[in-house]
This record gives sequence, C-alpha cells and structure tokens, in this order.
Amino acid sequence: MTSHPSRLSRRDVFSAALALGAATVLPAAASGAARAATGSGRSGRRDGATGPRITDCDGWGAREASEEVVVLDTRPERIIVHHTASANVSDYSRERAHALARAIQTYHMDAQGWIDTGQHFTVSRGAFVLEGRHHSLAALDAGDRLVRGAHCVGQNSVAIGIENEGTYTSEAPPAAQFSALADLCAHVCRQYDVSPSEIYGHRDFNNTACPGDRLYAMLPQLRQDVARRLGSGRPVALPRWPVRLPGGWSAGPAAGSLPEYLPAGLLDPLRGR
Ligand SMILES: [Zn+2]
Repeated sequence: MTSHPSRLSRRDVFSAALALGAATVLPAAASGAARAATGSGRSGRRDGATGPRITDCDGWGAREASEEVVVLDTRPERIIVHHTASANVSDYSRERAHALARAIQTYHMDAQGWIDTGQHFTVSRGAFVLEGRHHSLAALDAGDRLVRGAHCVGQNSVAIGIENEGTYTSEAPPAAQFSALADLCAHVCRQYDVSPSEIYGHRDFNNTACPGDRLYAMLPQLRQDVARRLGSGRPVALPRWPVRLPGGWSAGPAAGSLPEYLPAGLLDPLRGR
C-alpha cells in the first residue's frame, strides 16, 4: 500500500467544467479538454467517461482526518450499499446534505474513534452526492486506487461504501435519491471496471439490517439501472455467494437483527447546524 496525499489536478478542471453548467453529463469536448489540460494519459478514466457532481470534503466543511488516510494501489472489487438509519427527513436541501456529512464524520471520529468518515460516499435524501473519507474522490477520478474505508467488516480494503441518508426498512428512498445512487454506482463501475453484478448490501457481509429490507430488495433494480447507464440492456446476473472474503469471513444474503452503526435519531437534530 502506498500513500497518495496529493489531489489530482485533472479534478479541478473537471469541477470547473461542471460549474459552467453541465448537469450530470459533461459534453465530450469538455472531457477532452480536461485530458488535454492535464496531459495525463494514465489516469484509468475511460475516454469520455463522466459522472455525477460530487461535493468533496472541502465543499461540505470536513474536519481533517486524525491520521493520514490510507490509499491502496488497488481497485475495489465491489460496491456496498448502506443506509444511515437516520430519519426520513423531508429537508432535501444542499445545506442538509452538507450538515449530514459533517454529522456522520463527527460521529465516526468522536464516537467510533475512527480516523475520518467511514464510507467513501454519501447520497442525501435530496440526491446530493458527497465525498465521505478524504481522498475518495481523487481516487475515484484516478480509477486505479482505493481509499481504505471503515464501513463493512472484512470489506474495507476491497469495497466502495456508499451511505444513503434515511431508514429503508419499510419505506423506499425518494426516486431522486435512488437515481443519484445509480448515477454514482455507474460512475464507480466505469472508473474501476467493476461489474454492476458486484453491487451488494451491507447485510450480505455483516450481521446487520442495513441497508433495510426495502432498499435491499431494490438492489436488483439498482444493478439493472446501473447496467443501463453503462450502455447494456441485458439482465444483470445476481451476485454469486459465497463471496471470496479475507480471514475466514463468509457472506450470504441474510437479514441480520443488529442495528446499523449509525443509530436512528443520532443525526437528528443535526449537530452543529
Ligand atoms: Zn451499513
């Protein structure tokens, strides 16, 4: 494992292009300009690949990590979907999304004792997508490295973790949030060459109810939506269990009874708001 403390300059160009008015898809010309401006030919990003707008740690006011974040020189093998087990608020604002990201980081660092936010990315109920652990976005942009996270025991060095704001045991996520999740997953799959069939729920690996019965039941649809975004209309195969895991862990599609590590109500009212 190797550290990559510096941010990628191509990201600045990419962000600037987004700020000029592109929504979720950059025109090919802008993408080409970004490549030309940085002169980077070995980033891992496929030609023409674009992704959703993602607010980085600086954008939502993250604290510094308490220790240097570990960046692995390997790509993730899969994506793991979580829910925050917090209230299904109707505040869909950007401000709420940023406050959520700060509250999660505070909880993970001060209550859990972790060095930084545990997950790589967060999707708010209002469909805002935010970076979680520092450098996750630069690693995704590069497409050839992975920040070691803290979101799923046994998977933190091989899986991208995405937290979705809300509790999805019986209620489905807002359509815009689910769509933003699919956009983000498609971007992750594209950047890291991960198959849509490699999208899992937290409960596939740990004894937890996360990401909730309802959202878990929507994962086949999510895989299909992601495949469509990647240009394939063919049915996506289900993941094959047991997944190969390090250290004797076994995995299977079983709904556990333990609560998510973000207890319900912890983020509401949001601290520091
Ligand atoms: Zn989870």
